[in-house]
Order: sequence, then C-alpha cells, then structure tokens
Amino acid sequence: MESITGLKEKYIKTIKMLVFDVDGVLVPRGTRIKQVGNITTLETKQIKKEQIAQIQALYKKGILINISSGRGLYMLQEMFREVLPFVSLTYENGSATWYKGRIYQHVNSFEYLKDVFTKLKQVADRDIKGFEPKEFIITIHCANRVKEIEKIIKKDKRLYTVWNGEAYDICIKKIQTKATGLGQVMKIFKLEKKYIMAIGDNYNDHELLRRVGIAVSADKSRVKGAFHIPLKGKFLPGDILMRTILRLV
Ligand SMILES: [Mg+2]
Repeated sequence: MESITGLKEKYIKTIKMLVFDVDGVLVPRGTRIKQVGNITTLETKQIKKEQIAQIQALYKKGILINISSGRGLYMLQEMFREVLPFVSLTYENGSATWYKGRIYQHVNSFEYLKDVFTKLKQVADRDIKGFEPKEFIITIHCANRVKEIEKIIKKDKRLYTVWNGEAYDICIKKIQTKATGLGQVMKIFKLEKKYIMAIGDNYNDHELLRRVGIAVSADKSRVKGAFHIPLKGKFLPGDILMRTILRLV
C-alpha cells in the first residue's frame, strides 16, 4: 500500500465515481446510542462544512459521488441534506440505494432475519447498548463483544456478523455486502470497475474495496487498498482524499 501522497493525475484521469464510506472517513468513528425500554436515543453526526464544499466541488468537476454506509437511509439523508442533489446513497451495507428520491432495493432480507431478530432481542447482556434502527440489516451496539450474539449468528449458516469494535452488523452471507450495492450502482450509472474509486476504513468495506479500480484504505490494519490514509490525524481521511483529488483534476 502506497501513501495517498503518491496518487498521480494519470491514475485518476479515468475516475468517474467516488464511493465514500461514512464513519471513520467523512465523520469520526463512534456512535452514541442508548436504549431504555422503548426509548432509543441516537446521535446524528454532522458532516463538516468543508466536506460539503468538497463534495460540491467534485460534482462540479464531473465526478459522481456515491455514499456507501452501514447506516440507515433516514440517517444518511439527514447527514447529507445539503448535498442530496449531488449524491447517491447506498445504505445498510449494500441493501438499497437512494438516488434523486428514488429507491432501488438490492436485497430482500426479510425471510433471513425475521426469526433471528426475535432471538437477538431476547439476549440479556449489560454490554448491549441498543439496536440501531435499520430496515434490511440488524445492528447491535455493544460496549464489548457479546458471546451470546455471536453464538446465535454462528448457528445460522446463511448469516454473518463482524464485531467492528463498537457494533455487530448482521447480514446475509455473500449477498448483503457493500459490494452488492456497488454492483447495482454500477448498473444504475452504467459504469465499469475501472471508473470507480472507493475509500473505506472498516471490515464491512473489504468486499467493496476489492471491486473498484482504485481502492483507498483509511485504516490499513483493517482493510487493504492501493493507497492508504491514516485514520487518525488532523484531518479526516475523506477530507484528505478529496483535497488530493481536487488538486489533481
Ligand atoms: Mg467506516
């Protein structure tokens, strides 16, 4: 992996779409969530003005922006309100894509998750902070790993989950990943792999980063890419990437 400072104009000349992971890339990692009975308190993170301006600038240069996150649509719409006319939102790890008010559903997980959801709800563990509202995947925020959750998912061969240090995303093996979402986005925009550049920092970006022309890792201890940007620094990885590209195009 090369440092992002090695990115040259010749590499990105062909790039027509930039795919951004959100947490750890456009906003710092970490979700504040609290669930007591039927009351869920969930923090909405704000995208900085600088990143909004960068997204607009890239759009003006003719580069399409796709946001690909494990988060739900309602949250992404809130976060990206100011740039909604310029972006497509692929949410819940590739389950669906919102573009100009239209929703393209890529995965139907209902039959896979309906029973396991009930089982997971019954797990009593003090480390469980709360279930993040989602439509197609199950996300459980925890203070630490919860063995009982892992056991339940392991029993169902159709499902997978990865502990990312703050939460479990529970999805369908192979068919519910950010790569699925990317494949569908490529169809919507009629783009081949070589025209796409993506940046991500976490395990759920693994498949996505393997399927693009230029992959950028924002945490080289978790995912690989042709280039890498340090996760921790004065600027967010997304900021550094957009700054670099805007200097070159
Ligand atoms: Mg992330």
